[in-house]
Amino acid sequence: MPTIVLREKCDGCKGQDKTACQHACPNDLMVLDREQMKAYNRAPEYCWECLCCVKACPQQAMDVRGYADFVPLGSQLVPLRGSEDIMWTVRFRNGMVKRFKFPIRTTEEGTAEPAGGFSTDQSDLSSPDLYTEPASLGLDAIPAPKK
Ligand code: SF4
Ligand code: SF4
Repeated sequence: MPTIVLREKCDGCKGQDKTACQHACPNDLMVLDREQMKAYNRAPEYCWECLCCVKACPQQAMDVRGYADFVPLGSQLVPLRGSEDIMWTVRFRNGMVKRFKFPIRTTEEGTAEPAGGFSTDQSDLSSPDLYTEPASLGLDAIPAPKK
């Protein structure tokens, strides 16, 4: 199910040039109604439910119904993102509420290395190896199939 903006919680990101949900959406779906200072999804049928806007919203103003593979159908999910972790509040259909907290980073804020420390040299674009291989596999070279 596409995400829905909870109008009573949305403050339009205080009228910034681009709201957090607009900035986060890879599909350019979120729009800010500047008269009402409320955001909305202009084409829910094109939402691929990536939840980027849900996690980016500073007001927890995006509602989403999770899939049955991680919460029972009909549950409501609201994330609260911190600098070190994310807390998901799950409200079940019977009203029960549970909270789950997960770490979201393995390095201290500001210390992550671009490209994970792997070379960004692009001279081997014609190589059949995938980026970071063979080093990320712990190998000196990709083994060649026997003929
Ligand atoms: Fe509203 Fe949240 Fe979007 Fe900001 S990020 S405009 S508060 S829905
Ligand atoms: Fe865009 Fe993803 Fe939010 Fe859908 S769930 S509106 S695709 S950011």
